[in-house]
Amino acid sequence: MFYNSHIHTFMDVDVPRKFLPLALVRLLATKAGTAIIARILNLLNPFSDNDIFDRYVKFLKTGKLGSQEKIFRQCQKYYPRNSRFVVLPMDMKFMGAGEVPRQYEDQLKELGELAQKLPEVIPFMHIDPRRPGVLDLLKKNVEDLGFKGIKLYPPLGYFPYDEDLYPVYEYCQAQNLPVVSHCSPFSQVHFRGSRKDMAVLLAKSNHPIDIRGKSKKELSDYFTHPSNYEPILKDFPKLRICAAHFGSAHYWNEFLTNPQAGNNWLRIIRDMIEKHENFYTDISFTLNKRAFFSLLKVLMFDEKINRKILFGSDYYMVETKTDERRFGIDLRAFLGRDYFKLISVDNPKNFLGI
Ligand SMILES: [Zn+2]
Repeated sequence: MFYNSHIHTFMDVDVPRKFLPLALVRLLATKAGTAIIARILNLLNPFSDNDIFDRYVKFLKTGKLGSQEKIFRQCQKYYPRNSRFVVLPMDMKFMGAGEVPRQYEDQLKELGELAQKLPEVIPFMHIDPRRPGVLDLLKKNVEDLGFKGIKLYPPLGYFPYDEDLYPVYEYCQAQNLPVVSHCSPFSQVHFRGSRKDMAVLLAKSNHPIDIRGKSKKELSDYFTHPSNYEPILKDFPKLRICAAHFGSAHYWNEFLTNPQAGNNWLRIIRDMIEKHENFYTDISFTLNKRAFFSLLKVLMFDEKINRKILFGSDYYMVETKTDERRFGIDLRAFLGRDYFKLISVDNPKNFLGI
């Protein structure tokens, strides 16, 4: 039984109205819109093979399939039978990008009911500490709908060590529920409110931050930085945390081309998973680049490291970059049976506590 420890099935109605790609979503929703965009792209670059455009259309269409079950079924068919999937929802209400058409509770309810119908769905709940009553909502979802863990997305505007998250971690540690957290820099999905509001959020940092001359995207990296988990690992020694995306393609490239550079998130995460028994990472999104397969395999020569890496694909976010099926098969062939089993069976079981 394989585990894909990182996929998404949230829909277009779970994304804020003002969130930029959604304008494109609406235009693409119509046939005329698709034709217009295709023409513009062709005018801009008549030699393009439309490959990137096709991928975007596929990505946007997936979000519009109409139910999380339909989106999930699309993903499931790319994997061997009996595979299981950690499904990570998104609470995008507090990112300052406008109203979200569907209530977050409804997104969770739909996911929870899907998991009750399909045992291969492992539902997690995204926790934004700014949501009132978020701990009660988590308890309800764990008890009534069998949610199995939580997800964090710090670039939306909160620190993982936010004091409002402490009761949540306490509950998770007591209930043996793991945490998956988005941990890659330059996120497209980040806080979109005013600079003034961003400054207020950043003031919760445990060290002083100079915000001058930095874009909101750059500033959101302060929320996301892997070292933000050090205090949590200390305060909750039994809590299992996965820093998703293993530092990002940016830092994998830098690790290969400029190994002297400091603040490399790949290196920081590698050192942290080696040092902390309950700190993990996943390869979702980042490893869609085949150019990184060799480095992954070399990293896996270290037994302390290879016990802490989880296979994940980031379906359907990764549809803009690669094909789900090829990714799974190519990586499996490259790593070989034993290493692939570690990241897709043994390690996920340890992480999930099953
Ligand atoms: Zn993701």
